[in-house]
Amino acid sequence: MSPDELKEYKGLWVFIEQRNGNPVRVSLELLGKGRTLADQLDVDVTAILVGEGVSGIPEELIYYGADRVIIADDPIARDYRTEVYADIIVEQVLREKPEILLIGATCIGRDLAPRISARLETGCTADCTELHIDKEMRLIVAAKPFFGRNLMADFICPFRRPQMATVRPGVMELKAQDRKRKGKLICVDLNLKEEDIRVTVLETVRSAPDGTSLEEADKVVVGGMGLGDVKGFEMLKELADLLRAKVGATSLPVDAGWISKDYQVGQTGKAIRPRLYIGCGVSGAIQHSAGMIHSELIVAININPKADIFNFADYGIIGDVNEIVPALIKELHEMNPKI
Ligand SMILES: Cc1cc2nc3c(=O)[nH]c(=O)nc-3n(C[C@H](O)[C@H](O)[C@H](O)COP(=O)(O)OP(=O)(O)OC[C@H]3O[C@@H](n4cnc5c(N)ncnc54)[C@H](O)[C@@H]3O)c2cc1C
Repeated sequence: MSPDELKEYKGLWVFIEQRNGNPVRVSLELLGKGRTLADQLDVDVTAILVGEGVSGIPEELIYYGADRVIIADDPIARDYRTEVYADIIVEQVLREKPEILLIGATCIGRDLAPRISARLETGCTADCTELHIDKEMRLIVAAKPFFGRNLMADFICPFRRPQMATVRPGVMELKAQDRKRKGKLICVDLNLKEEDIRVTVLETVRSAPDGTSLEEADKVVVGGMGLGDVKGFEMLKELADLLRAKVGATSLPVDAGWISKDYQVGQTGKAIRPRLYIGCGVSGAIQHSAGMIHSELIVAININPKADIFNFADYGIIGDVNEIVPALIKELHEMNPKI
């Protein structure tokens, strides 16, 4: 693109992913971060919302930082389909020319972002963990860890627009809502016809039967190899249920087949930011901490007083998980015998 063409692009957009009419948390995290970045560029934040029956969401998006919400509400967009969502977003981007487009690095975001960037022939930094603005160059700088988190690399996209990035859930802070904020709602008509779409959704099957995802959980109890075997996760589930928490895992129990990959926390798993993280038999390897270090309160149970996790835990319990966890379960039962 020529310098004049680049100048035509203005504003920061956030794709709002929604499930059953509720925005996913990472989209709201990105609105907050996007607000800070857009203020530095002196531009608007636009939320782009696609789905069916999503009319209840837009106000919330404004409270989280959007100045404008583009709403594509249509039965054709009820279920996520790459082709449909990419068509809708690309059309709006070509019409309005935002300079930045941010997308949460969820399963959907990781599928959608490369399709959009390829269609627009622009760059997309995938899975980044930091974003900031280089004011002099008027560019967004997207950073992500490399080589097992030993290096951080910065990425810029100076010659194409929009500059795109996907951001992992949980790495940006969820800012408080400002219910006094006002914004503009823009409803767009879609020109898509069902017969032109190559994919039909026959059925949607939930992988997590209890609904909320690990990334959105308020409390997470994570099991590591110190649990000893697959039965350790049954014990952990009991503790998690009593605490109304979710169960997570390090990568080694996943590799051992004790628990599915859906539960893995860390660099190649999910990034979580709960109010309470309890690590049971977790060593605290850097690839694991990459996905949980932003937890508000970190409690570690480990038999080895020199385990790395004690270097960043708020509370450490030195002991055998097979003694400590049953003791906690017993205590919680005694505190509330009805459970
Ligand atoms: C490219 C790459 C990506 C990776 N991605 C991830 C990732 O996404 N997530 C992830 O978690 N890891 C990831 N890893 C693996 C990571 O490096 C560690 O190997 C892994 O996190 C260790 O898991 P762990 O703590 O369960 O096991 P271990 O390192 O084996 O630690 C077990 C801990 O349990 C303690 N323990 C043993 N018995 C007991 C007991 N009875 N009671 C209490 N404590 C006990 C031990 O003292 C020890 O600290 C990745 C590695 C690489 C190279």
